Amino acid sequence: MSTKLSILIIEDEENICNFIKTSLQLQNYKIITASTASEGLSIATSGSVDLILLDLGLPDMDGLHVIRQIRSWSSMPIIVISARTKEQEKVEALDCGADDYITKPFGTKELMARIRTAMRHSNRLSSQDENYKRPYICKGLIIDFDKRLVTLHGQNIHLTQIEFKIVSLLAQNAGRVLTYDSILTHVWGPYIEQNNQILRVNMANVRRKLEQNPAEPQYILTEVGIGYRMAEED
Ligand code: CA
Repeated sequence: MSTKLSILIIEDEENICNFIKTSLQLQNYKIITASTASEGLSIATSGSVDLILLDLGLPDMDGLHVIRQIRSWSSMPIIVISARTKEQEKVEALDCGADDYITKPFGTKELMARIRTAMRHSNRLSSQDENYKRPYICKGLIIDFDKRLVTLHGQNIHLTQIEFKIVSLLAQNAGRVLTYDSILTHVWGPYIEQNNQILRVNMANVRRKLEQNPAEPQYILTEVGIGYRMAEED
């Protein structure tokens, strides 16, 4: 089938690479592998890759450098795979242009979900895109971007302008993690001081309005030390 999606795995640990390769082949993806950054970059530039799974700790080059290189000419989805649990590193990868990350060890189901989400968002670069206008619907929560209307189980929810901007941004990127800095920049503009306090205060208000139990949110999930991720649509 020529419609198979091609996934490039750049990972130097052979057993992890093989595990991912086998799992993805079972899901009917076409897999190409590279064990070094330079090999991966040369395959990526060949033009036959739809998505990249990238290990950050590669023998010849920092994975962040690979992301920057690819982002200089392509917006193809990049999902970072890393054993490292340092939040700062994940934030850096996302801010360099990675679409998402997955932390080792992970299961096939989680990996598939990340890939599907990244593929879905890869064509959403323009805010004029149809996907951006279609309402977000998840577990009784409906966000109508055109009408600027939020309803929860049929009840109107009043959000301030800033709160609506935050919720819309997250909903239009449902399933993806967005870093604190990228949310701050999108909502308040590029000159906002990168201080998470203002975001945390607004998020607390949003959650009070949307979540049944703000301590255990079901719509807007916290990625500790990194940012927020809106639940996938129904
Ligand atoms: Ca490695």
